[in-house]
Amino acid sequence: MKIHEYQAKKLLKSYGIPIQDGVTINDLAQAEAAIDQVSKDFGAEQYIIKAQVHAGGRGKGGGVKFSPDKASALEHIKSILGMTLVTHQTGPEGRRVRKVMVAEALDIKQEFYVAITLDRSTGRNVFMVSSEGGMEIEEVAKTSPEKIVKESILPGMGLRTFQARNLALALGLDGAAIRQATGLFQKLYKLYREMDGSIVEINPLVLTEQGNIIALDAKINFDDNALYLHPDVAEMRDLDEEDPTEVEAGKYDLNYIKLEGTIGCMVNGAGLAMSTMDIIKQVGGSPANFLDVGGGANVETVKNGFRIILSDENVKAVLINIFGGIVRCDRIANGIIEAVKELDLDVPVVVRLEGTNAVVAKEILANSDVSIISADSFKDAANKVVEAARG
Ligand code: GDP
Ligand code: MG
Repeated sequence: MKIHEYQAKKLLKSYGIPIQDGVTINDLAQAEAAIDQVSKDFGAEQYIIKAQVHAGGRGKGGGVKFSPDKASALEHIKSILGMTLVTHQTGPEGRRVRKVMVAEALDIKQEFYVAITLDRSTGRNVFMVSSEGGMEIEEVAKTSPEKIVKESILPGMGLRTFQARNLALALGLDGAAIRQATGLFQKLYKLYREMDGSIVEINPLVLTEQGNIIALDAKINFDDNALYLHPDVAEMRDLDEEDPTEVEAGKYDLNYIKLEGTIGCMVNGAGLAMSTMDIIKQVGGSPANFLDVGGGANVETVKNGFRIILSDENVKAVLINIFGGIVRCDRIANGIIEAVKELDLDVPVVVRLEGTNAVVAKEILANSDVSIISADSFKDAANKVVEAARG
């Protein structure tokens, strides 16, 4: 799960990490009061207006604006709130900005990159920093990866003091700034562990002209499987930032990811779902989605699956590929018939059922009065659905 910058900063603050602070609003009517409050609470005379969306690269896309005074801050809030922000992470369609952070502007001397995530190749958490932080970090990673310094963290040991210090030294810091950064890194690692983060990233962490180390930006992603341990984190979820069909599918416990093709897929099991997508590609088609209806597929799941698949207008044909292990194919067959009738389907449906009670299931489908294209094998099903989608 992702959260916004302003929410991530609040968490950092609760761990004692210094942040560029501010006030977040979702309505233009609150703009002037927010600017006044930022002046009052943080002594700001200059401001940064920052679009709050679940995507990086806001600065380059025009979603982060410096404002030397209140009038200019107001102008920038007006132009950013409600805009469609396009960044390298939003795709060309962009993202509507529904919230804006009015932040205190800091005098930046240097920008650094700081991140913690799981390194799957070593099976350990890795703490990364770079002296080349800011908006070009992707370029740095590509062209001069040696400028990203890493400390691998031993499970059970946590980030050791000498490691935190090494990281601070790698940023070229000296004196008090080393101590500030070392402490900050330890707090950040504590947050990452305690909150079950999957990524914590501060880009940039800055050294100000006044010699302070401050988090100017913050991104935290959480491990969804641990969310039940953190109801306060789960509450920060912003459904406006997620694909509406995926949100809807989640309500029915369906694992759905929208894709660009024309063939809707309803499959049980993530492995079978992936190989279904592969085989569709292999025979020249293109899947419209990944959909795993789970192990306990029944009439309701099949119906909900159809609804979700058919809400995508690119879908020209549907392939149902179910392996009956715990689920019985005859039940699925009845579910399909019921769903096709009830939902008044107008796209061809190819069905391949294999496993427990598959023979009975085929008879049920063959004897029904709904038009379903039955397939004998995986390959046969893929060929038939690709042909059907071509019309
Ligand atoms: P991102 O582009 O989505 O990562 O947004 P950031 O929050 O990282 O902001 C982008 C850039 O805006 C930063 O790298 C800074 O260069 C600049 N910026 C943000 N806040 C301040 C500030 O308080 N003072 C100055 N001088 N620049 C800022
Ligand atoms: Mg940033």
